Amino acid sequence: MISEKMKPYVKNNSAIRMMFEEGNRLRAIYGPDKVFDFSLGNPSVPAPDCVKEAILELVQEESPLTLHGYMSNAGFEDVRQTIAESLNRRFGTAFSAHNLIMTVGAASGLNITLKAILNPGEEVVVFAPYFLEYGAYVRNYDGVLVEISPDTETFQPNLAEFESKITAKTRAVIVNTPHNPTGVVYSEETIRSLAAILRKKQAEFGSVIYLISDEPYRELVFDGAKVPWLTGFYENTIVGYSYSKSLSLPGERIGYVVIPDEADGSSELITAVTIANRTCGCVNAPSLMQKVIAKCVDAACDVETYDRNRRALYEGLTGLGYTCVKPQGAFYLFLKSPVPDEKAFCEEGKKYNILMVPGSSFACPGYVRLAYCVSYETIMGSLPAFEKLAAHYGLK
Ligand code: PLP
Repeated sequence: MISEKMKPYVKNNSAIRMMFEEGNRLRAIYGPDKVFDFSLGNPSVPAPDCVKEAILELVQEESPLTLHGYMSNAGFEDVRQTIAESLNRRFGTAFSAHNLIMTVGAASGLNITLKAILNPGEEVVVFAPYFLEYGAYVRNYDGVLVEISPDTETFQPNLAEFESKITAKTRAVIVNTPHNPTGVVYSEETIRSLAAILRKKQAEFGSVIYLISDEPYRELVFDGAKVPWLTGFYENTIVGYSYSKSLSLPGERIGYVVIPDEADGSSELITAVTIANRTCGCVNAPSLMQKVIAKCVDAACDVETYDRNRRALYEGLTGLGYTCVKPQGAFYLFLKSPVPDEKAFCEEGKKYNILMVPGSSFACPGYVRLAYCVSYETIMGSLPAFEKLAAHYGLK
């Protein structure tokens, strides 16, 4: 007998599994090259060579006792110091090892942060569309998720509604830029306005509101887009980072959380997040991967490959009469469904072997997400199928 809290997740899981199974079913019938599966955010470029080199070097040269042993729940101090120095070089900050906690990816970073700051019933604000797992993470700690409706013109956060929905119970707001599922990068102007609202509301309620910046796509930007480093704009910022996308290591589960000294109750908060790493059952981030990251700290990700896909898909689809905001980051494109019921559009797409994720999976119906972390051949092969789909809806 499972808990009441888990029942809705078990029920929902079948929808995700069905999409996965549908991809396998279509591939078995038509062959993998005839199925255009844009459903998964799994990186399509391999991890850079330095990752493999670092693994081999570490396994051959380090003592297995230190390489595979327990360490501080925050992670190896020298690894954290190396990452802190890399951040300082890039963003002009002054972090040191004590500001970082190594985590089991961004998912775990968000969980341990929320565990450290939330009391039951406290609110966490998110901007639709958003990564739906945020809801589960907040509910894990008996928090309440507060959704802000989307600005479908720009997909920048709807700040007027945001201001009106902050209450004395608001403990945090989560932002994600570059953004899943829209590919939008929040502008510096947006961040400044958001920070000003947070400061005003903290003063009004005499409360502390943390800005949690979920940044697994930080380096995946195009057309020279700049991703503001948020701790410089708002003191109560907590940054959650992951190497899942930037180094194509999602299965290795490695990332970190940064808590600046300026954040309210910083020292106690760092301790609380570190303890949460232990009590959530992660104990520490994977030791081998921590050391790999230290060796690859400034490794670049293959943005070019994603950019080529992005341009081909964006130009191809808009040329066929579809509409979407041009993505500037991550590897997603958020297409407006030609009909209000985007689930029906996804179903119709399947008839042409196109797999897309309905926007309602991101709290934004009427749109669909295409993850273009696929091969270039898949993108090009999909365009004639999208053309037939466009013709079905009488686009253009
Ligand atoms: N946050 C966002 C916005 C994501 O898209 C994802 C994964 O797709 C995550 C967090 C979780 O990433 P990780 O694999 O580092 O846990």
